[in-house]
Amino acid sequence: MPFHARTLPIVTVHRDTILNPALSPTSRLLYAVLLASLDGDLGLESIASLVGVQNAEALEPYLEELESVGVVEMGEHAGQGSVLTVNEMPTLPAQRTHACVPCQECGDCSCSYIKGICQPCYYIRDTFEQARTDIARYKARLAEGATYAIGSNGSRLHRWDCPTLNTPEKSMASLEEQKPDAKERGVYWSRLPVLYTAEELRLKGTKKRNCAICGPDPL
Ligand SMILES: [Zn+2]
Ligand SMILES: [Zn+2]
Ligand SMILES: [Zn+2]
Repeated sequence: MPFHARTLPIVTVHRDTILNPALSPTSRLLYAVLLASLDGDLGLESIASLVGVQNAEALEPYLEELESVGVVEMGEHAGQGSVLTVNEMPTLPAQRTHACVPCQECGDCSCSYIKGICQPCYYIRDTFEQARTDIARYKARLAEGATYAIGSNGSRLHRWDCPTLNTPEKSMASLEEQKPDAKERGVYWSRLPVLYTAEELRLKGTKKRNCAICGPDPL
């Protein structure tokens, strides 16, 4: 079931960082402003002006202060160049590696998602997984003698091999076709039909009209 989340326009800051007397007032404000701007598209110039320094370059010493306490990391990330990472919680010195973890599928930076895989690749992998599960379900049903299908709009009864229905081959071919642009456009698995045995349909008391193209055996 899809769900929507209503999130509040609120940021959470780490108390000990905001109250850290070793940080300059500008650094403490910068930490809060950086966190507040993560989902927006505030550039460093606007951030500089919000914290009261002249320009993005003038942020440097404050960013270094924040880096020294582990709430900011600066480093090179695969496919993205130099990236500023802001942590809500300071990282421990042992965790501050500054090393990018490239995606095991595409080699781009995966640091803002699950380390080791980037978000588009995770989604692609998940869709292929869905495809495998769907195909296994379909084949198992066929093996059980479920040779009838109800079309996706639910109006007609078909033979499982009706040319108007999806098959593992057709759906898989379409998935493979989407693969080259998958990172940009995403991928979509066309679900295979739900299959029924004649017995199940009789029990259901289905009154669907027979498809004229495949002409399923009478129930
Ligand atoms: Zn990275
Ligand atoms: Zn990737
Ligand atoms: Zn049909």
